[in-house]
Amino acid sequence: MSMKAIPYGRQQITESDIEAVVATLRSEFLTQGPQIAAFEEAFASYIGSRYAIAVANGTAALHLSSLSLGVKKGTKVITSPLSFVATSNAVLYCGGEVEFCDINPETLLLDINQVRKKIESQPIGTYSGIIPIDFAGYPVQMDQFRALADEYGLWILEDSCHAPGGTFNDFKGKLQNCGNGNYADLAIFSFHPVKHIACGEGGMITTNNEKLYNKLLKLRTHGITKDLGEFQNSIKLSGGYNQYPGWYIEMQDIGFNYRLSDIQASLGISQLKRADKSLLKRKQIAKKYFESFKEKDFINSQSRFINGHAYHLYILQVENRLGLYEYLRKFKIYTQIHYFPIHLMPYYRSLGWKEGDMPNTENYYNNCISLPIFPTLTDEEHQFVIDKIISFYNE
Ligand SMILES: *Cc1c(COP(=O)(O)O)cnc(C)c1O
Repeated sequence: MSMKAIPYGRQQITESDIEAVVATLRSEFLTQGPQIAAFEEAFASYIGSRYAIAVANGTAALHLSSLSLGVKKGTKVITSPLSFVATSNAVLYCGGEVEFCDINPETLLLDINQVRKKIESQPIGTYSGIIPIDFAGYPVQMDQFRALADEYGLWILEDSCHAPGGTFNDFKGKLQNCGNGNYADLAIFSFHPVKHIACGEGGMITTNNEKLYNKLLKLRTHGITKDLGEFQNSIKLSGGYNQYPGWYIEMQDIGFNYRLSDIQASLGISQLKRADKSLLKRKQIAKKYFESFKEKDFINSQSRFINGHAYHLYILQVENRLGLYEYLRKFKIYTQIHYFPIHLMPYYRSLGWKEGDMPNTENYYNNCISLPIFPTLTDEEHQFVIDKIISFYNE
């Protein structure tokens, strides 16, 4: 059977996506126009948060979030070593210190019991915040992190890049969307092409906190405000007028240019319209993987099939992972490994982290493999991937 290459993730671009972008190209604004506000509104409504702030990418979202939460020199933040490096890097951008805590090997999420132990082993006030990750799309039980954070006065920044559309039931039995701001102070998303919603590059911060929202709006554009009500300078104009002229703006913080363009936002809006459909397809793919592998003894562990999982990744933990990876490549099935533990990256080693510091994450890394999962994966391709995995272990 001759097949085209099957990556682990791939964007879907429809004719209506293309039309939406073309319409923006023909419009008056390429950036800072109406598409940004429309995308923010649509995204906030999809996630169920009060506010959404569109930014240049997920990394910028993490950076601005960390700044707005007050991370600075000496601030200690707890996070998981099982994520993309951008998550912990954001703390370092602000001069803060990353304190890794290991994962729970069952869920692959930051282990709340270990986080509690870490916090309780130090004087109160040692740690300022926690960054849990909805890793692979598995929803963090954020109400539990909120309760812990409140006990010790910590903030929570949720890295929801893998979980748009993910849900969990809180302690009241109420369904909560990942990143909806009901428990975490801020949440962030990415619109890189491998993520659920593609803008090329793009990111979003969601929150229910008006103060943080206003801070973030300013930080996104150089720390500048155009809002008359916020001006701090007192201006004396010639002619005796004491008022701000029409052109007047103020830079009140040191911010950045982390804006998204209207071109990207129009693609995001169009993609968001089929987010539910795409998520359903991901769930169907996950279910079939789960059923196909659940009785196989070469599988040590696989992604669970649970309600609320957003299935950004479908992960197996297997014997002879390298052999499987190489074997599948021969058939142009390009699996991936998510992720090499952050604390063992040379830069983090230079900060003092070493092998053995995070045993659960390190064990997981040694046998994990992420299978193709994306909305345009055909049934034929999907079956081909499953058959080849089984045939590798039966040969
Ligand atoms: C993709 C990703 C990021 C970074 O997003 P970019 O848009 O690529 O900057 C951060 N955290 C996680 C978990 C991600 O998957």
